[in-house]
Amino acid sequence: MMKRLRSPKDCCISAVKADANASFCEECGQPLARCMAFSECGGLVGDDGLCHVCVAPHLQIIPGATMNAPIGGSVALPFDLYNASTIDRPLFVTGLWSREKGDWREERLGWEQLDPNTRAPASVTAKEFDRAGLHEVEIMWSVATRWRARQENFAFSSRVLLTIAGESEHAAGPVVQISSENEMNGNVIQITDNTSRGSKDDGKVIAAIDMNIHRLDLEERRFGLRGLGEDLRVPRSVAFRFVGFGKDAAPAPDLPVTTPDGILAFGRSHARGEGGEGDVHLVVTDRKGAVDEGQSLTLSRRHFELYVENDRLMLRVSGSNGLRVNGTAYGADKILALKDGDVVEPLVKTPGALKLMVRFSREFDRVSAVTLTRTPAIEENAA
Ligand SMILES: [Zn+2]
Ligand SMILES: [Zn+2]
Repeated sequence: MMKRLRSPKDCCISAVKADANASFCEECGQPLARCMAFSECGGLVGDDGLCHVCVAPHLQIIPGATMNAPIGGSVALPFDLYNASTIDRPLFVTGLWSREKGDWREERLGWEQLDPNTRAPASVTAKEFDRAGLHEVEIMWSVATRWRARQENFAFSSRVLLTIAGESEHAAGPVVQISSENEMNGNVIQITDNTSRGSKDDGKVIAAIDMNIHRLDLEERRFGLRGLGEDLRVPRSVAFRFVGFGKDAAPAPDLPVTTPDGILAFGRSHARGEGGEGDVHLVVTDRKGAVDEGQSLTLSRRHFELYVENDRLMLRVSGSNGLRVNGTAYGADKILALKDGDVVEPLVKTPGALKLMVRFSREFDRVSAVTLTRTPAIEENAA
């Protein structure tokens, strides 16, 4: 019944260009889930949460470096990280790791911000040159894209094949060759010291080679970059269901968040379906179901926000009066991840007057639906 979001297609991208508020692509019927920075990038995201307009990292091997690797020793493997984004948004490289066999080793990186159309140098240490022959080094790097107080994290990797040719009579140590495993396979970059001058590759100019990169969704969870722990994630395709909010006071059920900013705003503002600026209209009702005007005024027009970020369901307190989650009071601007069974009480001083229960429906390691149940419930034909 519930559709997973696929990677955005051309028809969907045209649909949001034609109508920035559209919820669906008229051509293919897909819900349109927007990048958090949609107002700048115009990008859509699929189930993996990745905006390909904002996040376009490349790893490039640049020939010309000098390397010598004594057998049993280590060598710094140089490369460039490149931000190929076509809009004016930087990427932040938040971590770098490498491994040959076994565990990841954290590497040092002296910079973080990578502006669009910019490259910056990095290197990892390849250590286990205990024999001549083929060695594989896997490089992983984490990138963040930021928008106001929000941040999406991703991890990518690339594999570089190193050939240790053994002692050469010209070079001070063995000759190290780096080859890529991309479609340009066979195009071997030779990195040697000056003593190898006179070889057949002398003077050959090789452009930077773009390596194949892979998204590492499992490592993103293991490293705490995304997901709720290692075995649960709330993807962007998660469907929302609203129970007990009253007619037109909440979005249509079983849809992912398709608002232009990717946020569901809860508060005293009327919902879009009622002609307002909010997404979920909150009021306080008394025992008989009548609206308590006085109590309702203690709700901000935009009291709190829910959104999916880093495969987590996030709550941000946007009103000045704060709210409670599982009994604990939080003030303005607090951001926290919600879990299955959490209870949000929008009124700090009279928490029992209005409660929202959060329930997750699971399919394997993913949450397929979030149900928000309001108590006391408002009858559909009331309010
Ligand atoms: Zn479409
Ligand atoms: Zn974007």
